[in-house]
Amino acid sequence: MGNKEKIDALRSILRKHNHNYYVLDAPTISDYDFDMQLKELQELEAKHPEFFDPTSPTLRVGGAVTKNFETVVHEHRMYSLSNSYSKEDLEDWEKRIQRILGDVTVEFTCELKYDGASISLSYENGKLLRAVTRGDGFQGDNVTTNIKTIRAIPLQLQGDFPPKFDIRGEIVLPLDGFAAMNKKRISEGEEPYMNPRNTASGSLKLQDSTLVAERPLDCLLYGIVGKNTGITSQFEMLEKARDWGFKVPSIAKLCKNTDEVLAFVAYWDEHRHELPYETDGVVIKVNSLRYQEELGYTAKSPRWAMAYKFKAEQVATVLNEITYQVGRTGAITPVANLEPVLLAGTTVKRASLHNADQIAKLDIREGDTVFVEKGGEIIPKIMGVDLTKRPLQSRPTTYITSCPECGTTLLRTTGDAKHYCTNYYGCPTQITGRIQHYISRKAMDIEGMGSETVELLFKEGLIQNYADLYILTKEQVMPLERMAEKSAENLVNGVSKSTEIPFERVLFALGIRFVGETVAKKLARAYKSIDLLMKASMEDLISVDEIGDRIAESVIEFFENEKNIEIVTRLKSYGVQLEISAEKLENQTDLLKGQTFVVSGVFEKLSRTELKKMIEDNGGKVATSISSKTTYLVAGANMGPSKKAKAENLGISMISEDEFLEKMNT
Ligand code: AMP
Ligand code: ZN
Repeated sequence: MGNKEKIDALRSILRKHNHNYYVLDAPTISDYDFDMQLKELQELEAKHPEFFDPTSPTLRVGGAVTKNFETVVHEHRMYSLSNSYSKEDLEDWEKRIQRILGDVTVEFTCELKYDGASISLSYENGKLLRAVTRGDGFQGDNVTTNIKTIRAIPLQLQGDFPPKFDIRGEIVLPLDGFAAMNKKRISEGEEPYMNPRNTASGSLKLQDSTLVAERPLDCLLYGIVGKNTGITSQFEMLEKARDWGFKVPSIAKLCKNTDEVLAFVAYWDEHRHELPYETDGVVIKVNSLRYQEELGYTAKSPRWAMAYKFKAEQVATVLNEITYQVGRTGAITPVANLEPVLLAGTTVKRASLHNADQIAKLDIREGDTVFVEKGGEIIPKIMGVDLTKRPLQSRPTTYITSCPECGTTLLRTTGDAKHYCTNYYGCPTQITGRIQHYISRKAMDIEGMGSETVELLFKEGLIQNYADLYILTKEQVMPLERMAEKSAENLVNGVSKSTEIPFERVLFALGIRFVGETVAKKLARAYKSIDLLMKASMEDLISVDEIGDRIAESVIEFFENEKNIEIVTRLKSYGVQLEISAEKLENQTDLLKGQTFVVSGVFEKLSRTELKKMIEDNGGKVATSISSKTTYLVAGANMGPSKKAKAENLGISMISEDEFLEKMNT
């Protein structure tokens, strides 16, 4: 087999596997085998740039960066939908249709209304040509590079598709993927995303497509527009789209009359929480495309379609008590303790009240009957108060002024919505919270010790901070509740074993505000030891890739505290790794210090990740886009022409992979 044939064969196999996995949800090979074949294709493509294909499965990983999205006028306008909320609304609509069409039998296709960001995809000769956001309906943004990373969207169609058409759909973030993204964010000390819809639509406009590729986005299709598609009904359209490789949920139903439509709506109103993604209603469409054409459009929406909005997911319940939680950073979060109530398929007992402003704005009081709503948020929120049910003796809520755990007067700095307990070293919840974070799995991973043990040790006066862990003895621990000789021994051993944990994780374990796992890695790599990090100035810190003002300030504040210095010094004396190990350092140099690299294209000897790591290990900086600050553009095969032009314009030196490696060897 020639190279061209080999490349074509691999592309076609990988396309099939992508489809099985992401569209049909029925993979037939292991992830490992898939990766191996993808790697093989990448290598072949790198050697043979002459066979470049913009629809190759290798382009799913992203890489391209878009600074300004091009505006594109939609060839066919993207309309809104009219809304209905009741049986009567629907019956009125049916009457209007019948009046226009005369006395004919009208059938309807019912689909779910997926709650995400709308997208229009243009295909020509079976290849994805362009993807455009809805924008104002007349024109939107060209987000093709980002859309290509969504595996459920076919870059190359199968079967007997028409030569040219547009297809419309909704980009959604499935709930489990959304939950995983938030879990990661929280572990990195970031605020969680509010809901899947906004996160999905925000993703489309990210500049770096690599970041889009990392998000578990999905695309559900519902409508084809174009001339001579050979399709005669909405239901047939869905089936055809599915055959050509698009992801079209099988839930759609062909209904003979309004009663069947209402039954579909009633069923999904109740069962929609069992779906893997969010929906906010049902879309009912006249099935015959001929009738659709006859009905036409109003100024804003098609006359042949109607959205039936699900009832807002709101319940009323009594707010029994407002309590206040203290986080390990001292931030206070007010919590509404509710009379348990069923909402969106789960029993809700608590809701977040966010902060003092929120409580004051809605005038929320204990004893009130409140409306609780659940969107994609992790915990439900309170939307308002039913004032007709407010008890006579009700009093406005006075926000606490001192810490519920230690009594310290709370501080609120301007510009921050939260109150803080500033008793960093005396507030019991902050102390145990920090130690619990220190021992947690992603931090020091101390075996034989859990959150309760930390509380117990603290209560018994055995530990005040994480450095104290290292002087605990078996004899001290054994007499404690639920401890025995063996468990005490495990605990002490677990602590001493944590001295093997590498510097970057120790840095994360220290619990500096905003220093999550990723930031800790960046800082460890940039500074190499805690001593150098401690001495870093504000300007110095923000010059590190991805370190902003907020993080830099927090780091400086942490090391300004004498007590923190004392604890760090003690950790050092117990053998905790406070610098990058010699072994790791061996692979690291300052050879590329002060130089900024942009890496683009596909490489032969190293993967992009390896290449970037090599640059960073040797003191260089990797940037995502070319600017006047770029020192070198490392150019691989299939590099985007616009990058090349930009580099040439700015007079940036371009080097090949080999030239880069040569540089490293001198
Ligand atoms: P609205 O934004 O409320 O006017 O609703 C119109 C939007 O609903 C369209 O732009 C689509 O993005 C979205 N939508 C979601 N699911 C469907 C569907 N099955 N059929 C048509 N539109 C849908
Ligand atoms: Zn406190």
